[in-house]
Amino acid sequence: MINISIYGKDVQNLLMIDGVNNASILEKLFDVLKDSNLEDMDLARVSAKALNNLQKVPDAGKYWNEGLIERLTELAKSLCDDLDGIMEVATDEEQLEIIPLRDILNAICQDVPEVLRKCPISSCGRKFKDAADLENHISRRHPDVNNK
Ligand SMILES: [Zn+2]
Repeated sequence: MINISIYGKDVQNLLMIDGVNNASILEKLFDVLKDSNLEDMDLARVSAKALNNLQKVPDAGKYWNEGLIERLTELAKSLCDDLDGIMEVATDEEQLEIIPLRDILNAICQDVPEVLRKCPISSCGRKFKDAADLENHISRRHPDVNNK
């Protein structure tokens, strides 16, 4: 289990540790947020905050993959819906816990990292921000692949 009480710069450094599988750290944080199930709001908030920080590290696209981004965005949206439901019956005190968590979940939905698409030609290795650019590149540089 990883220590999720770390924030900001520390989280960023965590991704740089040699030999650590970056994707597995993100997956673990995702699981923590998912399993917190809003029953433990402190845990939900800490893991959501760490995930949000990790969405904003430089070159975030290197660490994230599309599948995980999609699952995280969906999870954040559904937790937001759940929180809205709880808000209606929450006491003032509970609302003070709910509002900051909701803000972080909203931030997760907004700060979606751009995942670079890699050229499928392994000897090439160029990366592109969107599918159209990659397609243009393939038809320009690897025309034989395009006409399969
Ligand atoms: Zn290429």
